[in-house]
Amino acid sequence: MLDAYGRKINYLRLSVTQLCNLRCRYCMPAGGVLKKRHDEMLTQEEMIRAVKAAASLGITKLRITGGEPLVKRNIVSICREAANVAGIDEVCITTNATLMPELAAPLREAGVRRVNISLDTLDEKKYAFITRTGSLSQALKGLEATLDAGFEKVKINAVLIGGFNDDEVGALAALTKEYPVDVRFIELMPMLDECGFGKDAYIPCDTVLRRIPELRKVASDGGVARLYALDGAMGNIGLISPVSDHFCAGCNRVRLTADGKIKPCLHSNGEYSVKGLDLAGMRECFERAILAKPAAHSPLSFSRHSGAGRSMNQIGG
Ligand code: SAM
Ligand code: SF4
Repeated sequence: MLDAYGRKINYLRLSVTQLCNLRCRYCMPAGGVLKKRHDEMLTQEEMIRAVKAAASLGITKLRITGGEPLVKRNIVSICREAANVAGIDEVCITTNATLMPELAAPLREAGVRRVNISLDTLDEKKYAFITRTGSLSQALKGLEATLDAGFEKVKINAVLIGGFNDDEVGALAALTKEYPVDVRFIELMPMLDECGFGKDAYIPCDTVLRRIPELRKVASDGGVARLYALDGAMGNIGLISPVSDHFCAGCNRVRLTADGKIKPCLHSNGEYSVKGLDLAGMRECFERAILAKPAAHSPLSFSRHSGAGRSMNQIGG
């Protein structure tokens, strides 16, 4: 359906859990988030009902996210049921990949078509630092398992952080020569007060162009990333600039959190609850949420944090 500004909304990001096996500094507080009561969270049946309601309004693309979606016990079954909802053309998943060695093949078999893997660094110590609990070798095993499972597309997402991984943009971009993947750099979004990154961490994606002058421009695929490529590479380099050049005018998405709140805008605090509603109620709720999408969110900067009112693991990115 069209929102109040004539934007076609056809993309739903469904967060299936706010829990995660990592604690990335920009996403989650060190101690994790307060666990909500089981009865406050959407059941699998409610998630699928919500996907049906959204599909009846013209949502065709579904991305499963979290928290870490692969820690959800019934993730394969959720993906299978979602992929079978009439009108849903594409189910994709965003993951830290650490559990992909066990789950890549079952997820592919369940109908997941594309996978985005979050990987900010290729240095074991830096990976342990940024994720607070993770192991790079486990994430790389997950990447290999994902590539072996035959998904239609695999993308690697790296959050670009000044003073942390801006010296690695060349090495990360070179993954497009080693593997059939796209690598996308995403500007760090100021979500958490206590994330510990100073002003210098918030650098624009154009830094990548200065660091890798040999990147050549590639035609846009209609997504939010500006696309480039290295000669001889198997995939593209994408630059996603939610801070320096937000893309609200072309926004085509809504989000549903694991506790049943539709968020019309990532960086605004408006929320519409579908918890406990029947199909007609959920459809009506999605309609209201889509019509309430703001034209744009307030600008983001180091001194002007997101108005989301939640940490990223509670939304889904
Ligand atoms: N756990 C999964 C993962 O990490 O891919 C899915 C959920 S995670 C919240 C989704 C995406 O949000 C990840 O690519 C992560 O890097 C990104 N993200 C989280 N906090 C962010 C922030 N403050 N700025 C930019 N990206 C962020
Ligand atoms: Fe977990 Fe993903 Fe957030 Fe990292 S970015 S803490 S992997 S939800």
